[in-house]
Amino acid sequence: MRNLSFKTPEEALEFLLEGNKKFIEGNPEIKNYCFDSMLKSLEEGQKPYAIVLGCSDSRVAPEILFDTGLGELFCVRTAGNTIGPNVLESIEYAVKKLKIKLLIILGHQDCGVMKYAMSAPLYNDCFENLIYQVQSVKHEKGLQDYDTLAKEYLEVCKHRLLVKSNIVKDAFEREGLKIVKAYFDINSGLINIIE
Ligand SMILES: [Zn+2]
Repeated sequence: MRNLSFKTPEEALEFLLEGNKKFIEGNPEIKNYCFDSMLKSLEEGQKPYAIVLGCSDSRVAPEILFDTGLGELFCVRTAGNTIGPNVLESIEYAVKKLKIKLLIILGHQDCGVMKYAMSAPLYNDCFENLIYQVQSVKHEKGLQDYDTLAKEYLEVCKHRLLVKSNIVKDAFEREGLKIVKAYFDINSGLINIIE
């Protein structure tokens, strides 16, 4: 385990973006995930410094993209980074119990859920929960391409977290929780922050 401590969520974010650069350059700092070298030092417990809400897509593994070890990121992943009750409570747990001050909402290029939402009928009996949230953004904004939809959907995620969760809202407004929207470009490996 690396001995990391950050004074601010901004510092933690900067560190993670540096890790993403190392991933792109093919020179990651974390090369060994073996039990002895990594997990043993975490026997006493975890103290992750960032929450990542991301997609379940097999190409979008936050620990690898940000070049982090075990014990550093609290990851909540669903198809299309969509937010249902269990997702919300997982994030609330990380905010309230683990006191994490940085929350990254990570969308990505070529997302299957966004693609499906572009063409799926408005009312259908499969993927109902996944598609409904995403499609409402598509219709509201009149979007025509799924990568733009993935980026626009990040703001909906942020809004949803703040509206649906008093724990997240209080932490955001009063306790210095930083919520960041980020987009992973599969072609380049780069994770960009979206303002
Ligand atoms: Zn996806």
